[in-house]
Amino acid sequence: MKVSSQTIKSVKVEYYQIPLAEVLSDAKHGDHTHFEIIALHIMTHDGFEGMGYTYTGGKGGRAIYSLLNDEIKPGLINQDSTSIMAIWDKLQWDLHYVGRGGLLSFAISAVDIALWDIKCKRLNAPLWQVAGGSSDNTKCYAGGIDLNFSEQKLLDNIGGYLNRGFNAVKIKVGKPDFKEDIERVAAVRNLIGNDKILMVDANYSMSVEQAIRFAKSIEKYDITWFEEPTIPDDYKGFARIAQATSIPLAMGENLHTLHEFGYAIDQAKLGFLQPDASNIGGITGWLHVASMAYTHNLPICSHGMHELHVSLLASQPHAGFLEVHSFPIDEYTTRPLKLENGKACAPDIIGTGVEFDPQLVKPHLVKHS
Ligand SMILES: [Mg+2]
Repeated sequence: MKVSSQTIKSVKVEYYQIPLAEVLSDAKHGDHTHFEIIALHIMTHDGFEGMGYTYTGGKGGRAIYSLLNDEIKPGLINQDSTSIMAIWDKLQWDLHYVGRGGLLSFAISAVDIALWDIKCKRLNAPLWQVAGGSSDNTKCYAGGIDLNFSEQKLLDNIGGYLNRGFNAVKIKVGKPDFKEDIERVAAVRNLIGNDKILMVDANYSMSVEQAIRFAKSIEKYDITWFEEPTIPDDYKGFARIAQATSIPLAMGENLHTLHEFGYAIDQAKLGFLQPDASNIGGITGWLHVASMAYTHNLPICSHGMHELHVSLLASQPHAGFLEVHSFPIDEYTTRPLKLENGKACAPDIIGTGVEFDPQLVKPHLVKHS
């Protein structure tokens, strides 16, 4: 390939383990004590630098680091940094046989986000404008990881979200005794009143029958969505649940290829799509899913890394809700998330608007290239 000024000169990869302030639990992933960040820096011959990243709930990060550093990095050198879709497609097929929809989707995401950061910087514009420009703010909700909290602690935590200005909250469900879940939903609805929005998330812990029974039991609490009631691969099971309840279903964090989203849209009778740019192939993958959502008349939402998704949600005319996740990645950046009148504001920063604060992340660096 011809070396031009836009080609990639060098690539650096960093792996961080960042502790959480307290242990957070959900129904299927167990206890979270920390999260992992794998960041990738791309430098071009004409002096641009882009940063992309992905994250995990605490496991698998070293393997993603290895995939990026050992398998992907050498092939990026001298590629045209503006050929984002070509690089995206090549990476998908180079490692498809061993990586389709798995760790590879996380690794490609980091590369893609770095290339989008460079693209925005070349255009001298913030991501919310480059990605679609519909708005510079978005509806949002606080997504609690709180299944291990006592009911009182759950309510205190939700009260904290309201004090921070949130108008919408989500709680985890999936207790061994579903009656306890019902009591927690009732208690939270009672606390927040009727004008606030409430969602629930089972992290695919229920059978189809259990999910139907539970959904019917909480319909009276005005639930905006029931997220991942059962395993994400069971699209037809989702459809059976959707047909049995008036509560819309949501998923996306565990759909890691565009094809999976296609099948889910066709078969699962979803009310909300929640792609995560950290595992659906970055901004390119997320915008593809947003386009699929648009053509199927579905609101587009997000999962995790709200510091980036805030710009993507704001950019789309059919935005649903930004998840403000319990992993506070934004607190390690130079621009933590801002809320105004219950809405999240996209950064007016050239690029993706996400830059890690070296002082804050350095103590958590485990390895780098
Ligand atoms: Mg979830």
